[in-house]
Amino acid sequence: SSSAMADTVVLYPSPGIGHLISMVELGKLLLKHRPSFSITIFITTAPYTTGATAPYINHVVSTTSSITFHHFPAVALPPTSTSTSTSPVPFEELAFEIPRLNNPFLYQALQNISQKSNLVAFFIDFFCNAAYEVSSKIGIPTYYFYTSGASALCIFLSIPTLHETISKNIKDLHDYIKIPGTPPIYSQDLPKVLFDRDSRVYKMFLETAIRKGKSSGILVNSFEALESRAVKALSDGLCIPNAPTPPIYCIGPLIASNDRGSKSDEHECLRWLSLQPSKSVVFLCFGSMGLFTAEQLAEMAAGLENSGHRFLWVVRNPPTDDETKPILAPAEPDLDALLPGFLERTKDKGLVVKSWAPQVEVLSHDSVGGFVTHCGWNSVLEAICAGVPMLAWPLYAEQRMNRVFMVEEMKVALGLTESDDGFVTAAELEKRVRELMDSENGKTVRDQVMAMRNCAKAAIQDGGSSHVALEKLVDSWAKS
Ligand code: UDP
Repeated sequence: SSSAMADTVVLYPSPGIGHLISMVELGKLLLKHRPSFSITIFITTAPYTTGATAPYINHVVSTTSSITFHHFPAVALPPTSTSTSTSPVPFEELAFEIPRLNNPFLYQALQNISQKSNLVAFFIDFFCNAAYEVSSKIGIPTYYFYTSGASALCIFLSIPTLHETISKNIKDLHDYIKIPGTPPIYSQDLPKVLFDRDSRVYKMFLETAIRKGKSSGILVNSFEALESRAVKALSDGLCIPNAPTPPIYCIGPLIASNDRGSKSDEHECLRWLSLQPSKSVVFLCFGSMGLFTAEQLAEMAAGLENSGHRFLWVVRNPPTDDETKPILAPAEPDLDALLPGFLERTKDKGLVVKSWAPQVEVLSHDSVGGFVTHCGWNSVLEAICAGVPMLAWPLYAEQRMNRVFMVEEMKVALGLTESDDGFVTAAELEKRVRELMDSENGKTVRDQVMAMRNCAKAAIQDGGSSHVALEKLVDSWAKS
């Protein structure tokens, strides 16, 4: 009907750099397939800082000229979800709450765009679940962009089934759970937000899983060769047993592009890496929100030093005990106070970077030979695309189950063993770093990562599985 108007796609990520980066890359990918599309990304202004990332978000926005960014005004969180409550609110609950509070802005913005252009599709990530109410009222086809992998999606879509079949709280189960498409998952490895079926955040996940199963389609940032069992279970509809599964499109890997500006703003750590031998450096970096106690940092330092390997380590300040500021970015760390004597003793072997490193560039540097990661999905894909084998040290969100997939299913990582409270000893880190860098096991993982790197390249080429999936999606809009 509106053939004279531009075909527009709107993307709506929840707060957090990982989500924004994936959406920006999705926007660019859509433009590559259909240069005539007009792409708009809505950005919420969260009333808190999502990790050490605010400047980075501005950088992404200011350097992506092919996409229109529309910022929603800041919203205030209701008092129940902030400082006055007795126990701290889980980050995930806030992540669901922000988009809900933005629904009035969303309604306005979508209305405006649909009057001026032909709005063909609306993409949300799962924390933006509340947006579904708005987009379905306006009648726009709504897709979920799942920014984790296909195996994790199998679990996520199985939440309603688990809810019906397991009457206990997950945290009291202490047993393996069998879900189609994945290896058995020990209950305690599921995301913490699913532990208590009476919590608000659990209900938010349950509701989102149900609604996602009824959406126009689900995009997954993965590729078939990496998670073939999970992809098959999803497309066979095994994870939603009593209803049809929406179309699943594996369109990845989508990773942040490695487009640094001029040489002059090259980060000091890249210059340092260039002075190190090929594949000799272990890189340690824990996502946008990974924080450790001072005690754990000291233990890591000892483990690294004892391993004898070269390292590049991104260190942040420990979390504050101040529960009124649950997720404020901590100040720059005072490294001499946190790690007395360590920098001096290891200055020929390692480099410590404060707060943030250009991870994609670091991973693709020839000197990097291993990656100790918190198992955030973007980090996993970035390492695979750079051919860097991993040591899995999960911290939050779905990362514990990602470790199971990485170690047992994809075989792109070795696992670290932590105590029940998550503590990793110096001896354990030393042992695993040596295993990754020196042993036959490490070599097997390295070979598999290289194989997956090649599969990733093939998947996004013309005729590759991810390329074909995206064409199919875009074609479906032309026919509707
Ligand atoms: N990142 C980075 N430098 C850092 C920490 C993180 O560039 O010091 C980037 C990383 O490359 C990835 C993203 O931030 O693209 C983190 O996403 P991921 O899904 O791995 O973890 P999350 O932060 O969502 O837990």
